[in-house]
Amino acid sequence: MHISRPDILFSLFARLTSLPGIGPKMADQMAKRIGVHVIDLLRHLPVGVNDRRARPSVVDVEEGSLATFDVLVLSADIPPARVKRPARFRVETNGGEMDILFFHAQTDYLKNTLPVGERRLVSGRVERFQNRVQMAHPDYILSPANADDMPAFEPLYPLTAGLKAKPLRKALSAGLERLRDMPEWIDKQVMADYHWPDFKTAMTVVHAPRSLSDISAHAPARMRLAFDELFANQLALQLLRQQTDIELAGHALMPTGALSALLRQTLPFTLTPAQEKVLSEIDADQRAPLRMLRLLQGDVGSGKTMVALLAMLSAVEAGGQTALLVPTEVLARQHQATLTGFLAPLGIKPELLLGGQKPRERAAILDGLETGAIRIVIGTHALLNDDVVFSALRLAVVDEQHRFGVRQRLILGQKGDGCDVLVMTATPIPRTLEMTAFGDLSVSRLDEKPAGRQEIATALVNHDRIGDVVERLRAALSGGMRAYWICPLVEETEKLDATAAEDRHRHLCTLLPDAHPVLAHGQMKSVDRDAAMQAFTTGASRLLVATTIIEVGVDVPEAGIIIIEHAERFGLAQLHQLRGRVGRGNIASSCILMYQGPLSETAGARLKIMRNTNDGFEIAEEDLRLRGPGEVLGSRQSGMPEFSLADLSEHAPLLSLARDEAHKAVAAGRSLDDKDIVTLLSLFEKDSAVRFLASG
Ligand code: ADP
Ligand code: MG
Repeated sequence: MHISRPDILFSLFARLTSLPGIGPKMADQMAKRIGVHVIDLLRHLPVGVNDRRARPSVVDVEEGSLATFDVLVLSADIPPARVKRPARFRVETNGGEMDILFFHAQTDYLKNTLPVGERRLVSGRVERFQNRVQMAHPDYILSPANADDMPAFEPLYPLTAGLKAKPLRKALSAGLERLRDMPEWIDKQVMADYHWPDFKTAMTVVHAPRSLSDISAHAPARMRLAFDELFANQLALQLLRQQTDIELAGHALMPTGALSALLRQTLPFTLTPAQEKVLSEIDADQRAPLRMLRLLQGDVGSGKTMVALLAMLSAVEAGGQTALLVPTEVLARQHQATLTGFLAPLGIKPELLLGGQKPRERAAILDGLETGAIRIVIGTHALLNDDVVFSALRLAVVDEQHRFGVRQRLILGQKGDGCDVLVMTATPIPRTLEMTAFGDLSVSRLDEKPAGRQEIATALVNHDRIGDVVERLRAALSGGMRAYWICPLVEETEKLDATAAEDRHRHLCTLLPDAHPVLAHGQMKSVDRDAAMQAFTTGASRLLVATTIIEVGVDVPEAGIIIIEHAERFGLAQLHQLRGRVGRGNIASSCILMYQGPLSETAGARLKIMRNTNDGFEIAEEDLRLRGPGEVLGSRQSGMPEFSLADLSEHAPLLSLARDEAHKAVAAGRSLDDKDIVTLLSLFEKDSAVRFLASG
């Protein structure tokens, strides 16, 4: 199906450079934070408002306030260019005299702008300096004839580095002119209940605030647009499900229970009640003739892998195949090693499918999958390739789902016609966000950890004290402890991350030679990386220096210390994942979060949350509160939609409404053939799901 964009949208999907005042350079700057199309700019809402109506007297004008004055220029002091002193104009105005200052301004410009003996209207922020009122670089200087050029109100936008307010406003007002009347996609009754304006009016109004209450999340125009965005999100999810027949027929599996009974006998532990509960939920889904689409949430170390393995065995018992999709090769290899151990007594060998395999090896695996000889396969994105064909895929498990987008999850599901899908995540997702990313997915939670787990003691340590940290580490390592040292996340490139890790590794090799430190990062050859992981797993090395490559899934129960450098640069979910690498066995474990001060208030508060709790859900909720949903799950790789108009901490009730309305629309048979719906989705939905729909 290909859906073309309605004509009504063309002007809004023109490039930003088509707007006056936006050249290639500015467009470049905007691309990252705002977007590339006119509509992206319109979705960039003001965060404040300048009110220039105040015309105070200089006698009682408030320091720092925004004010407008009628002035008569009395004198000008414009120093020659090489003199560092600012240019200073003395003016007479309501109530007395004041100074207008300019730093590094051109003489000609100044002489023309504020000619001595003439009147001007000036507006800007007022300062008091040694009892004199002054204004540096007024925002407006107008001759009396042009006084109307100054707006009484101006929207204030969150400015990104290098973007100037005036060109941005100019581009925006030109962008707003491109708006056309749109068909109404919101239900009439909802519009009436909330007193919402239509789309075009709402867009226009949000960009023309006249007071702080116009900026509030609860202003009708803002609410309407927030709803539009949430509605688009919910519609996309629900249409996506419909489109891919997810709810349609699945297979009613009939597991014999033979393999899982055998496995349970060999386990050195009994399952936790939470694991049993979740397994029975999964079992019911597998036996039902409908397709399972279930999200399994469980904090790090809660034992998700065991749950997945038992569910996978059910699929095998029922005569099917099963695949485990993981985000990294490291994790794939590790899962294979773990599962091989568990499955050996059952006579089943799990196979591995990775990107860089030799053609012959790969061909053999593809063949095994197609004939059905291979029952269990573990792999990375390589599993999603077109040439991977299963004979009877009955369960796809997606581990650490936050690394995969909606589309990838669905492709795997499609490989086995009607196959069950279990999505596992260790990144606790606040309940408010669950719905936005997963729509009506069924959710199971592993809300307890295996008994005997020790709490992880977390300490915050200033980077200046790295010497102390190394000494304490030395003592622990010489007592036989194993530890992780996580290197700072350098934003720019993976190469830089790698260099930082290499440097730290070299440094620790000289300081702690007895621990035989090894190194693992994303830029290494996978054989070398595997060798390092192997050495650490067996204990040949007791210190693993790594980048966040070990963030997910790595399971070495003997490791009891994790040191994280520049913890302030990580997201809380990520820190929690990293910390979850320790405390997996029965040894008392600790986590040292090193930070580089000074910390901002929020950064400090966030690190304190990490120190105060080990509960992933609590951390996620707190993080959501401190930072807002957009950043909680790390933007791009999260697969989580980012909202620019809706603020879930304010608009949560609208989310349920949006879901209900989306249900109604889908139930009423509205679909992607519907122009209004395509319009809505184009305007508001940025998730890849929609691109998937439209190109599907
Ligand atoms: P995660 O949820 O982080 O993926 P894992 O599945 O890796 O957790 O489990 C962490 C560790 O706990 C593993 O070594 C696993 O074998 C072990 N484990 C799983 N279930 C139990 C249990 N019921 N009792 C004790 N240990 C368990
Ligand atoms: Mg895991």
